[in-house]
Amino acid sequence: MTKKLYYDSERIECEATVLASEKTEDGYDILLDATVIYPEGGGQLSDTGRIADACVSHARESNGEIWHRTDRTLPVGATVHVAFDPEPRLDHTQQHTGEHILSGLAKTLFGAVNVGFHMAEDYATIDLDLPLNEEQLCLLETEANRAVQRNVQTETRIVSGAELDAIPLRKRAKGLTGEDIRIVWCGGVDSCTCCGTHCARSGEVGAIKITAHMNYKGGTRLWFACGMRAVADAQKNALLADKLARRFSTKPENVLAAVVKQGDELAAAKRELRMRTEALLAYRAAGLMQSAEPVCGTKLVVHAEDGLNAQELKSFAEKLCGEERVVAVLFSHVGDTVYYQLSRAAGVPFSMREACAALNAMTGGKGGGRDDAAQGSAKAQTGFAELLAQFEGYLKKWMRG
Ligand SMILES: [Zn+2]
Repeated sequence: MTKKLYYDSERIECEATVLASEKTEDGYDILLDATVIYPEGGGQLSDTGRIADACVSHARESNGEIWHRTDRTLPVGATVHVAFDPEPRLDHTQQHTGEHILSGLAKTLFGAVNVGFHMAEDYATIDLDLPLNEEQLCLLETEANRAVQRNVQTETRIVSGAELDAIPLRKRAKGLTGEDIRIVWCGGVDSCTCCGTHCARSGEVGAIKITAHMNYKGGTRLWFACGMRAVADAQKNALLADKLARRFSTKPENVLAAVVKQGDELAAAKRELRMRTEALLAYRAAGLMQSAEPVCGTKLVVHAEDGLNAQELKSFAEKLCGEERVVAVLFSHVGDTVYYQLSRAAGVPFSMREACAALNAMTGGKGGGRDDAAQGSAKAQTGFAELLAQFEGYLKKWMRG
């Protein structure tokens, strides 16, 4: 069994003997008799580091043995120098210890139980079994940072399975037996069985920031950042608030009011635009009706009015098909798409679904609908005016039977 020296927070390196070296798909798995490199486990990420001149990208525990994934082999029996990369270790340890503090406080403050924890290189989450509101999360964050400020020493005890039941803990892993069960007390606010690495004192966590939250399975999922991750998050948000404030020519604390005001103004402008568009379309419809050519007693209107969306095209067609016997075929270019609407007035015997199918075939577009109205769209194409004239000719022939 590999001697686990990574629990000694003072220790950053050690000497060890290589017990095995096995070739893998992407390097070698090296087994040592002792290591300071923490293997992935307990929700905490693996350390990276070095064994002699080999780089360690990952370590894992299997039946008490710790296997190190390296980029080169090492001679079995050799004495080697082992060291972990201090920056990622500190980062992982800070997130892990911060997770203890948040989880312990969530339980004591609100009775919320940690039912899931995930740590990645760029984020960490805790799942709580109760829904917490913003005020509660704010209190949780404040109390967590008070626990950091108190700079409480982390305590660790190794106990037996028999002793474990008598010790009050927030959480104990299931099925633990034997004589070397590890218990930690973090920040004066949490206690549980744990195999991770912890800051020697809570002050080393630096800062704890809850960065986001959402309802999750009837409870709360919260994202948090500790240490330099919290600093990076604060920097990112301050920069964002500053950019928004400049954009709105106001102070950061007034940005929300400025955004709400702009949203209201935009909604009012959209309402106004809709009204004006409707008025314009009614005016256009009247003009088109005057010049529309009758085909077998039905007025045929084929017209392109660019910039209208599908809904506006439909509204335009309804205006045309209000009273007289009319077939209206309307087109609109928006970006690189051409939308079309085919509508008929009541009592007109021609099927717009059939006409749309013919138009789809001509444009390579897609669309369909009912006998009284159909819609479609196609990729905008050159020679659109010719296509329009060609389709008008087709319709006239079709309507004349
Ligand atoms: Zn822990």
